[in-house]
Amino acid sequence: MTAQLIDGNALSKQLRAQVAIDAAKLTAQGVKPGLAVVLVGENSASQVYVRNKVKACEEAGFHSVLEKYDATLAETDLLQRVHALNNDASIHGILVQLPLPAHIDAQKVIEAISPAKDVDGFHIASAGALMTGMKGFWPCTPYGCMKMLESIGYSLKGKHAVVMGRSNIVGKPMALMLLQQNATVTICHSGTVNLKDITLQADVIVAAVGKRNVLTADMVKPGAVVLDVGMNRNDEGKLCGDVDFEGVKEVAGYITPVPGGVGPMTITMLLVNTLESAQNALNTTQAI
Ligand code: NAP
Repeated sequence: MTAQLIDGNALSKQLRAQVAIDAAKLTAQGVKPGLAVVLVGENSASQVYVRNKVKACEEAGFHSVLEKYDATLAETDLLQRVHALNNDASIHGILVQLPLPAHIDAQKVIEAISPAKDVDGFHIASAGALMTGMKGFWPCTPYGCMKMLESIGYSLKGKHAVVMGRSNIVGKPMALMLLQQNATVTICHSGTVNLKDITLQADVIVAAVGKRNVLTADMVKPGAVVLDVGMNRNDEGKLCGDVDFEGVKEVAGYITPVPGGVGPMTITMLLVNTLESAQNALNTTQAI
């Protein structure tokens, strides 16, 4: 069997075109969606990520602000900037790029962001909203995975979904989103024994580990849907995922590539969340 590819670039293009249309409508009503991206330090991967996020905002017709600070920025100064952005009516989404330098408490900074502008979905209020099924921003990467499943018309009801990884930004929210769609969910982590026995039972596998080839063809049930969140480098220095793509694509029913899979969807969902925040701001103004 050769799996069908779920093309994150193509799906992103389609979704971003709709976001741009909706953003233009909001702008015409007096609210131009605005995203502030805050980068502290010189981390080269982070610099690429923030550049891509700002570029995507510009292409969608958003207002975007990139604030860059020295790695020596004091935590109190960063918190002050976050407070200022919370009070800035032209900004609907605030994203503080992680990781932050070691002297800054990242969780404290995330908690300083107004939940109404937490378009990354990392605030404890957003996590709580997801857990309880209330309205709130969903973390962009697992949200993008859900959109990919939706794009193939996949019904999760009664399906067994296995999430490999339990981080706060990918694995745990992913599991909750799958659960919300009535999948039976198993979460695996570094302490899981007999991983292969578990993944072989899965109708859907989300690999979010950060290790190459952690999912191989012998671990996948024929026809399963495989979403690869991982971002690693192979021996040639090329970007690759957690999944042995060449092997698994012969067994799976659907598979996401790396690059061109979940990665572009993450930025797309950031735009979707920022747009939603701007829409909320307009609704609030109109209600007054
Ligand atoms: P993380 O915080 O390092 O979490 C990795 C998780 O994998 C942990 O829960 C860990 O278990 C688990 N794990 C480690 N070895 C395992 C194994 N052999 N079997 C099963 N689980 C195992 O990483 P993350 O932030 O969630 O990111 C995961 C990957 O996704 C990384 O490659 C990252 O770069 C990528 N990523 C991609 C995007 C995107 O836009 N495409 C966005 C975010 C992240 P323990 O909890 O027991 O340690």
